[in-house]
Formats: sequence, C-alpha cells, structure tokens
Amino acid sequence: MNRKQRRASGTPSYVPGPPSGEARDLRIVYGAGCTYWGDIYSIQTLPLGGHRMPACPHCRGMLYEQESEAAWMERVTAFAEQTNDSQYVAFMRWNKGRACLSLRPEQGGDTAFERLRAQFDAEARS
Ligand SMILES: [Zn+2]
Repeated sequence: MNRKQRRASGTPSYVPGPPSGEARDLRIVYGAGCTYWGDIYSIQTLPLGGHRMPACPHCRGMLYEQESEAAWMERVTAFAEQTNDSQYVAFMRWNKGRACLSLRPEQGGDTAFERLRAQFDAEARS
C-alpha cells in the first residue's frame, strides 16, 4: 500500500510502502535489550557516523535480525515445547509489534516478559 506525505514546504511527496511479493524483505527484528519483535519494515533508523543504524521503533534500542518470521517462529515453538508452555506461541504472536519493555535489570527487565505475559493472559481471559 502506498501513502502520500506532505513535506514541511507543503509539496506532496511520494512515500512508497513496503514492497510485496518477491521484492518483500522477509527478515524480522528483535530487541537486543527490549522485548520488541516485528517485521523489518517496522524499524526506525538513527544517524550514526554518516550511516543509519536500525533501531527499535519504540525505545530506539539495538536490534538483532532473523532471516524470516518462519525461522523465528521455529525457535519460539522449540522453546514452547522445551518449557511445556502451550500458550507461549500465541503469546509471542500477540507480542509482535507491541510497545516494548526494557530488559535492563535496573529498569525491571528481569520480569519484563513475565509482565507482558500477565497482560496477555489477562486479555485472553476477557
Ligand atoms: Zn524497544
């Protein structure tokens, strides 16, 4: 889908949306220091030494990438089986693209996923 955006000068400029079909980049990203994950088109970029660094769209933290959502979900599914957690896959799908929580211990990061999970469980019950 394409959208138009107006420059500060008022001149309309064309801003293409993410490509589709074979041109689409299938990589996903996940937070190095936060609970974020989403598709590669969800990132923001920050200037760094003349380059643009990919960053979390919510906290601007560093991101890692995985080759595809299918590969990511394989890891998620393996973890769910390993921990015998029947709702873990649904929880991770629910978390896709959501605002992140920091994983830094001094910001309560030790319990970040537990807090997200409590939110997921509460929504699932309602
Ligand atoms: Zn983040």
